[in-house]
This record gives sequence, structure tokens and C-alpha cells, in this order.
Amino acid sequence: MKKQMVLRDPRIWIEELIRGFIADSPLNTMRNQAGDKAWDDALVGFASGSDPIWQQYKEYIGPFHWTPWEIYSQRFPRKPACPEDLTVVSWVLPQREMVRKANRRTRKYPSEEWARIRVYGEEFNAALRRHVARSLNEAGHEAVAPMLTPNWAIVMSQRFSYASSWSERHAAHAAGLGTFGLCDGLITAKGKAIRAGSVVARISVQPTPRPYADHRAYCLFFAEGRCGKCMDRCPAGAITKAGHDKEKCRQHLVRSREYVKETYRFEGYGCGLCQVGVPCEAGIPVKAAREALERCELPPPPPPLA
Ligand code: SF4
Ligand code: SF4
Repeated sequence: MKKQMVLRDPRIWIEELIRGFIADSPLNTMRNQAGDKAWDDALVGFASGSDPIWQQYKEYIGPFHWTPWEIYSQRFPRKPACPEDLTVVSWVLPQREMVRKANRRTRKYPSEEWARIRVYGEEFNAALRRHVARSLNEAGHEAVAPMLTPNWAIVMSQRFSYASSWSERHAAHAAGLGTFGLCDGLITAKGKAIRAGSVVARISVQPTPRPYADHRAYCLFFAEGRCGKCMDRCPAGAITKAGHDKEKCRQHLVRSREYVKETYRFEGYGCGLCQVGVPCEAGIPVKAAREALERCELPPPPPPLA
């Protein structure tokens, strides 16, 4: 049996693991001529495996949606653990300014930069999931990246047209990293132009506080009854006041494949027009929510003098 390594502070250790891989891995590339990096930063959060939010997701999204305990138990049937033994490590990779800027100019299909990130940036994200899970396993903490398990699946859902057995955005929401917008994207402290990743591990890490009571607190449309800019940006008419039509969005992504191949000469796709040129592109547009997060991030007050 592998002995668990004593990590000096598991939260810092994991954050450094993620940031170090972003800084040093040769896989972090857009594979363009300039050899630009795909990502240069990450937000990292943690949620307990026993947080009631996982059961709420299951009830809301569907019984096929895994709790952290379910995916852990599938992967490690001989190493049983309780939900409270588990932590979900979640990260958000914010799109770089040059990628956002390029996609801001587009009106129908993605910029080359955005399509490269959708394919090669996500390949890096998959490598990051493997790296975090492997490093934790090597340190004696069983860990699994739900999105990389062979039985992760997209499931047809009456309520959502389709949904999946694990959602990176929902994991990030549980880990205090953001709330949902009208277009279904996750609005984070670095905005909505992001990709996300996660790993479930048998390790104890203090959960990141969720500075929101409402799962849509960072969206101007829900918080203040205004904005709706993402509706204007969507070339497929997939966003209305009623929310995000996943099927229309999916069909537009399918059409984008041909455009990307013909225009940029590589196999790719993407859109993300609703993630840029909008108030939530690179930050939280709701002032009260921004302030709540800032209060949450303040260091704890020093202990009283004896
Ligand atoms: S563009 Fe406006 S309405 Fe759409 S998600 Fe962002 S804040 Fe919400
Ligand atoms: S990704 Fe594109 S098609 Fe889908 S909702 Fe956003 S703008 Fe519309």
C-alpha cells in the first residue's frame, strides 16, 4: 500500500502543481507560427466531496450526473472512501487577452486564435487533468479526472436537451469559482471567456468559500434585470431571455468545422462569440457580487493581542 506523503499545505501544493504545469509544460501551446502559449494563468478552487451541492446537481441535472463519491468509487472500488474524505480540485483557465481580442472582432465564426484554443488549448487542459491526477496518485492520494474516465458520457436529457455525467463548469461553481450567465457560461473573477477542469481526490483541503447565494449572481441579466448582450452576440439565435438553446448552439458548432478547415487549414471548431465583447468577458460585471468576492478574499484578521 502506498504511503500518503505529508504535503506541507495541500492547497498550496496543488495550486503550485497547476501553475507550474502552465508555466513549464511544452504542451501549453496554441501551435501557431509564433509558438504562443495557450494559457498563462489559472484560478483554483476546492469543494468537499460531502458538500450537499453535489446531490442537488444530481436532482436538478439528472440521476446520470455523478457525485464526486460516485466517480471515485467507480475508479477505486478497492479503496473505499466516504464523501467527506474527498475533495474536488477545480481550475479555470482564462482566455488570454490576444485570444479574446481576436474573437471580439468576429461576427459569425471563431477567430483562428479561438479555434486553436478550442482544440489545442483543450488538449493542454486534458494533459493538465492527467498531470494533477497522476501527481496526487504518486503522492499517495487516489485521484481521478472525471472527464477522462472512459464512461464519461453525454446523455440526452428532457430538461436540457443533453447533459453529461460530469460538468467542469458545475464543479467550478461548487468550488467557489463562479456563477452562471444567461448564455449558460460560467462567469468567474476573470470573466466568462474560460475553460475549466477538475480532479476528484482523496485528500483533505479546506473548501473555497462560495461568495454567492444565487447560482446566477454574477450575471447582470439576473442580478439587475439588464444587459442581455450575449443574445446580440450569438450568430445562431441560441440565446434568448429564456436562456440558452443547446441544440441551436451545437448545430452552429458543427457548421464551424467546415469554416475552420477551409479558412485556417486545420481540423478545429468553436464559437464563443457570446463570451467576448460582453460586460462579463473578463470580470464580474455585477458590482455587489464583485465586492462580495473581494470581502471573501480578504485575509483573516490577525488574532487578538494577548
Ligand atoms: S452578457 Fe450580460 S446577460 Fe449575458 S451572461 Fe454576460 S452579464 Fe449576463
Ligand atoms: S457558443 Fe456561439 S452559438 Fe453557442 S450560444 Fe455562444 S455565441 Fe451562440
